[in-house]
Amino acid sequence: MPGVYLDYNASSPLDPRVAEAMVPVLTERFGNASSVHRFGRAQAALVDDARSELAELVGCGLGGVVFTAGATEANNLVLKGVLESARPTRNRILVSAVEHASVRATAAWISAQSLAKVETIPVTRGGFVDPEAVEDMLADDVLLVSVMAANSETGVLNDVGQIAALATGAGALVHCDATQIVGRLPFDMSELGVDLASLSGHKICGPGGVGALVMNASAGRALSPVVHGGGHERGLRSGSVNVAGVVGLGKAAILAAADRATDMARVGALRDELLAGLRARIPGIAENGDPARRLPNTLNLRFRGADAEAVMVSVDPVAISTGSACSAGTIEPSPVLSAMGIERDAAFESLRFSLGRFTTAADIAKAIDRMVSAVEYVRSMSGGVG
Ligand code: PMP
Repeated sequence: MPGVYLDYNASSPLDPRVAEAMVPVLTERFGNASSVHRFGRAQAALVDDARSELAELVGCGLGGVVFTAGATEANNLVLKGVLESARPTRNRILVSAVEHASVRATAAWISAQSLAKVETIPVTRGGFVDPEAVEDMLADDVLLVSVMAANSETGVLNDVGQIAALATGAGALVHCDATQIVGRLPFDMSELGVDLASLSGHKICGPGGVGALVMNASAGRALSPVVHGGGHERGLRSGSVNVAGVVGLGKAAILAAADRATDMARVGALRDELLAGLRARIPGIAENGDPARRLPNTLNLRFRGADAEAVMVSVDPVAISTGSACSAGTIEPSPVLSAMGIERDAAFESLRFSLGRFTTAADIAKAIDRMVSAVEYVRSMSGGVG
């Protein structure tokens, strides 16, 4: 039975046009992009093309793109990389409560090692960072503020521009994990006043295992590498560049810029159809996250009295998620939902649906049908709507 894939926020399918751009690099090209011979120079030229394609998508200078193995590495590079520039007078790092684990866990490690004072910026019940909360925490000892643009579990959007203006006013560097917004909504780091942004190939119908940290010149100067041994990427990231992956990321960036508006208008309508269809046929549904400010492709719903893990298994062949895939398998409720003040029971009954470029109306119809059966089944096993 063909599956219905509604887990784009975990990883999106590779666009065939991206694969087409990558295949010749995999089959016909070789050589290390750092080598000075003609093979190496040809590879470096491909990498530089991708650099300008990515810079164009996110509004930064060419010198500001550092390719990494994904957003996890980019986030690690920001948080650990700024520490050396920390002077005794700037030793606080502010991180929002709903960041991806690669920010939260890195911040926790920094704190445990006493390398800086890490403080958590709270979010509202709607799941966003109130800029006033940031303002209250800012002072001239803050080194870095890290607030994501769009949350992977709820799709909730932050007012990154306003937060960046406040943080910059206090002399702090501003990092934004843009992994979930890039390719879905406009994100221009210079317009927003963001110093550093992380992104990832496999969230934008590009390849997995490749991403980037993009930055402006002053942030680049403030950063030190965390992976040593060659300094291949602007001295900030060592390791021979994944040329085919980077070419795929570049192509995915071009397609994201070209197709974003039409993709998201279509996807947003399908997402709304999904919500309306589920609501019409399943009682006891509540939305998590402020619906007035979220990505067009994401829906996070609580099905009262239905254990989310059980529904997720029963709803096969429809693929959905109980939260961030990276924290699945743990028995704790989603830290994102918990930070929003959503009670433990409600968090364990919450599911994420995330749509994308290849989602069809038939997928949505099938997902609604399968959800109706799965929720009814799980509720019947546990004694009905709680
Ligand atoms: N940040 C966010 C907001 C994400 O959603 C993810 C992917 N779950 C990451 C970072 C990590 O990205 P990658 O898989 O490229 O390491």
